[in-house]
Amino acid sequence: MIHPTVAVSEIIRQQRQFFATGKTKDVDFRIAQLKCLKAAISSNQSQIVDAVKADLNRPEFEAYFEIAAVSEVNYAIKHLKSWIKPRKVPTPIDQFPASARVYPEPKGVVLIIGPWNYPFQLMISPLVGAIAAGNCTILKPSEIAVNTSQVVANIIAQNFDPTYIVAIEGGVEISQQLLAEKFDHIFFTGGTKVGQIVMEAAAKHLTPVTLELGGKSPCIVDADIQVEYAAKRITWGKFINAGQTCIAPDYLLVDRKIKPDLLKAIKQSIQEFYGDNPAQSPDYSRIINQRQLSRLAGLMKEGELVAGGEVNAEDRYIAPTVIDGIYWDSLVMKDEIFGPILPVLEYDDLGDAIAQINARPKPLALYIFSKDKGKQERILRETSSGGVCINDTVMQVAMTSLPFGGVGDSGIGSYHGKASFDTFSHYKSVLQKSFFLDLKWRYAPYQGKVDLIKKIIG
Ligand code: NAD
Repeated sequence: MIHPTVAVSEIIRQQRQFFATGKTKDVDFRIAQLKCLKAAISSNQSQIVDAVKADLNRPEFEAYFEIAAVSEVNYAIKHLKSWIKPRKVPTPIDQFPASARVYPEPKGVVLIIGPWNYPFQLMISPLVGAIAAGNCTILKPSEIAVNTSQVVANIIAQNFDPTYIVAIEGGVEISQQLLAEKFDHIFFTGGTKVGQIVMEAAAKHLTPVTLELGGKSPCIVDADIQVEYAAKRITWGKFINAGQTCIAPDYLLVDRKIKPDLLKAIKQSIQEFYGDNPAQSPDYSRIINQRQLSRLAGLMKEGELVAGGEVNAEDRYIAPTVIDGIYWDSLVMKDEIFGPILPVLEYDDLGDAIAQINARPKPLALYIFSKDKGKQERILRETSSGGVCINDTVMQVAMTSLPFGGVGDSGIGSYHGKASFDTFSHYKSVLQKSFFLDLKWRYAPYQGKVDLIKKIIG
């Protein structure tokens, strides 16, 4: 941990000095740091579980979604030696004699700013990419998940030299101080509005950004499905972490023919997962704070309750809630919900449903429940979203082989697996010529050479 009186600019200066030694460019150094991170996560599992319990009442099982960041570490350790190899590319004949390669190189000193909802994983997963690519890193965990922020800061301080990796705790002021400085990359996870602030600050220094934002992720449910499976998968994805998941299905868009059956099955799944009174379930999380709770409570005033609806502010509890009779202009359809409220809209014609989705900002995730390959293909072709999961929810995020990120309002760039390495690397193009020959065709005087250049450029 860094003493609060040490100026942010001084920390960055020290990291730049360390980066300049070239140590982080050594692949064995990077692998050793990744192994150190893995060991640190492993030996702090109970602290991580306790912290997310204290912050979000996260059940132990779901706390392991945070610790799953280890799979990113394992993947990077396994593939790093092949990722860092320069890649040979074809060289056209007019360059002869020559060869060309693309070299990945670390960007330098990078900043990672995180949110409160998966407060450990969303700090550590991008960090894996930053280490693998050979950067020095400043982490700024969310002040709102105060317990997890401390655990992140402790783990980093106990295992890494601050001139290489450091966690700086604090709120908006610290974030703003950091954003005033020049970094070589900024990786931000959070809301769209703050994403704009981050990008504006980065633009002053021409710093590249990755923005992992949110949005309203639709869940289209066709009539041709296995209702029971679909209901379980939707219920799980919506209500883990009490709906505070960036890729939770935000709303249902269901074929009118199947709506009564689906809603009945979702209600039953809620009961199976969390019992008659979810407030007493050890497996149901709490809303992060009173501010979020009152925002969410305000979204439950329209429509007809199918399930839930109970709010207990003292306990930061909102029951898993399903609301039917919602329209596109209902309040709950205005912004990302980011809580345990599932509004239900219906459609008769898939084309109309697609048109409604396309009339709104591009979402982070889009879910399709359908057995019909033609409909699956149509939705894939006619909509745009950060990612898609067919016949399940949320599980796409657990795929190290799939890049994870948004598009349009839901974000810029992506990470996970190789995409994390790419995000924190600059791909340097290198053309190597030789002294073996010196063809004169490109030198002046150009007289009589115009036909030749025309042929070469095709
Ligand atoms: P947030 O944007 O309020 O805060 C994120 C971070 O930005 C925090 O560390 C905070 O300290 C900092 N911050 C807040 N205001 C700032 C300001 N004015 N200037 C500079 N920094 C500032 O987001 P949140 O409430 O922590 O998280 C919820 C949002 O994050 C949701 O929209 C959710 O969809 C999104 N999210 C996205 C992903 C993803 O992977 N795409 C993952 C999790 C959460």
